[in-house]
Amino acid sequence: MTTRRNFLKKTGILSAITLVGIPKISNAISIENNFAAVKKPVVLSTWAHGLAANEGAWKILSANGKALDAVEKGVMVTEADITNLSVGLSALPDRDGIVTLDASIMDEQGRCGGVACLERIKHPIAVARLVMDKTPHVLLVGEGAQKFALDNGFKLEPKTLSPEAEKNYKEWLKKSEYKPKINIENHDTIGMIAIDANGDLSGSCTTSGLAYKMHGRVGDSPIIGAGMYVDNEVGAACATGLGETVLRICGSFLVVELMRQGYSPEAACKKAVERLVKKNPDYKNAQVGFLALNKKGEHGAYALQKGFNYAIADNSGNKLIDAASYLK
Ligand code: ASP
Repeated sequence: MTTRRNFLKKTGILSAITLVGIPKISNAISIENNFAAVKKPVVLSTWAHGLAANEGAWKILSANGKALDAVEKGVMVTEADITNLSVGLSALPDRDGIVTLDASIMDEQGRCGGVACLERIKHPIAVARLVMDKTPHVLLVGEGAQKFALDNGFKLEPKTLSPEAEKNYKEWLKKSEYKPKINIENHDTIGMIAIDANGDLSGSCTTSGLAYKMHGRVGDSPIIGAGMYVDNEVGAACATGLGETVLRICGSFLVVELMRQGYSPEAACKKAVERLVKKNPDYKNAQVGFLALNKKGEHGAYALQKGFNYAIADNSGNKLIDAASYLK
């Protein structure tokens, strides 16, 4: 039976009514009405290491698997890459020489889980998934997170740094100066967002955080709504870069809410960067990149500085795209 609400929805009248008061946003109505045009599956992830991660995710998505499984397994490729200096246990340590890992995951039902400041566990994203699946909580940190991982069959890995991380750390110790360098290997989270064949969205994010941070420092990546956010009615977003600046504006949540208002993924990311600029007077010394995907399978990104890129995989292949930036 066609209810009044359904009739209005089909004809677009409801969307138009809902959107009164949001001028100049032409694609707002089409988000709700144009499901036929959904491009799926699609997976996106931050930086060049996203290419290999997308391949891992694509194996699941191309076999009609769930976006949730794809975003977990996809970023596990990066966590296991022993040459990576910004994700997983091979990454650069904090200023006390300890690698601490942050991760989060979120699915189409709004279920979510995260771990922060986790030591000596190879796959923090898998622990984040278990926090989501097996506990009544969203976030476990430090020793508690590690104990939970060990209780659930994860192995305690050695304390030692990877050879490359050790070399870098020894060099850093000479001056012990904490100064994040823009776009150089002292950060670079992998954030991943995907839409599956069923049209469901999920996201994940995993990182060692900023190199040479204070011990105990937690960034945006494990915080739902900051480093990553998913709303299955609207879209998904994730962030990379100086976490403190992203935390101040609940960055990924903001991007999703801007898409809800009708902004395209790139326009939403751009607006969020502009907000971040307003709230962070020292923005010129930071880099931040936002990446977004809407319910129609459209994607976009925007960064504070030049140099942010992201990987996209869909039926036409897997490639790297340079994002536009606020500072030219
Ligand atoms: N956002 C991460 C953090 O602040 C680092 C990064 O993405 O580069 O911990």
